Amino acid sequence: MQPNSGAQGEYAGLLVIRAYHEGRGEGHRNIALIPASAHGTNPASAVMAGMQVVVVKSTDKGEIDVADLKQKAEQHAANLSCLMVTYPSTHGVYEETIIDICRTIHQHGGRVYMDGANMNAQVGLTSPAIIGADVCHLNLHKTFCIPHGGGGPGVGPIGVVADLAPYLPGHVVVEVGHEKATGAVSSAPWGSASILPISYAYISMMGGEGLTQATRIAILNANYIKARLEEHYPVLYVGAQGRCAHEMILECRHFKKAGIEVEDIAKRLMDYGYHAPTVSFPVAGTLMVEPTESESKEELDRFCDAMIKIRHEIRAVEEGRADAKDNLLKHAPHTAATIMATEWDRPYTREQAAYPAEYVRAAKFWPAVSRIDSAFGDRNLICACTPIEEYVDAEEKLVETDRGPSY
Ligand SMILES: *Cc1c(COP(=O)(O)O)cnc(C)c1O
Repeated sequence: MQPNSGAQGEYAGLLVIRAYHEGRGEGHRNIALIPASAHGTNPASAVMAGMQVVVVKSTDKGEIDVADLKQKAEQHAANLSCLMVTYPSTHGVYEETIIDICRTIHQHGGRVYMDGANMNAQVGLTSPAIIGADVCHLNLHKTFCIPHGGGGPGVGPIGVVADLAPYLPGHVVVEVGHEKATGAVSSAPWGSASILPISYAYISMMGGEGLTQATRIAILNANYIKARLEEHYPVLYVGAQGRCAHEMILECRHFKKAGIEVEDIAKRLMDYGYHAPTVSFPVAGTLMVEPTESESKEELDRFCDAMIKIRHEIRAVEEGRADAKDNLLKHAPHTAATIMATEWDRPYTREQAAYPAEYVRAAKFWPAVSRIDSAFGDRNLICACTPIEEYVDAEEKLVETDRGPSY
């Protein structure tokens, strides 16, 4: 229960695998195989755990290239520590070869770390044990109801198979009962214990059947969105049955010809009252949509309607009916200040900008700022702290008045 995020769970799990190999006199095993489609935290955690990352290729269909995996597992057999694999994959597909993949790793003396971030598509229907995983983290703030808007707190407990259990993280002050414990991964012996009752209550109230139903609905919701949107935005990867798991990637890169970027779609969604889905992960220039089980059909329809209307707005640019630069998408999002300004020189109406769909009239969310250059902002850090001189001034005042600091 120590890890305070999924990424920290990965780190903890890899330390357990490392300690296991060391415990068997095989401390030289330090190769982590990681598919190209993995979340960025996977290679980062592997490096932090002192491992060397070897990337496994993906096929054109977005699946793990099993031939490449087998070749690399064999090539590195002597030093193979583990595979880190996300199931269903970050491409939103249940990898049909997953059991064979895990078996291959075991045959070469490695262990399997399953990234459990997509447990929303597993609970009640399958499990890490069924596919042959040895360690996995659960993102309680994704699958099990811990609210995490605004950046925290996360909880990423790990579960392991029996022979790895003795190596689970220990603690210097509190005895947590693991014989060959590796070091603690957070300063509190059970992490953010105070928020665990949220997941406990959720699991208790849902019950086994309820949780399974949530998984089914999450998958159904994703496939509903896929069915409504695929004629407007091609879905990048699907399984053998032509369906997605609990999430899907929408292709947006072909709009570049008309000068429309995925970011323009993300910003325009704000005018429709939506925070954009995941942008440019795991494939740059695309959108990844994960509706979860929580949204009603009305909400899913509103979102699909917004996406379809945006597609029509893109088409206007593609067909030259709207200017390539001076259009609804490039100027999005539209703030109240923009809409209410005395001057209006845009080639579209204020109404089209701020009330693009009927439902927006009933409940309008007003973005606070218009388009900013995100890439510029990321590369040019601006310190917003109080300048040091003000502390000096405050201290002088403090000396003068002999009162407490006023800052
Ligand atoms: C969210 C996520 C993670 C990391 O979890 P955090 O709690 O954000 O650290 C790792 N892998 C995948 C596939 C994820 O979606």
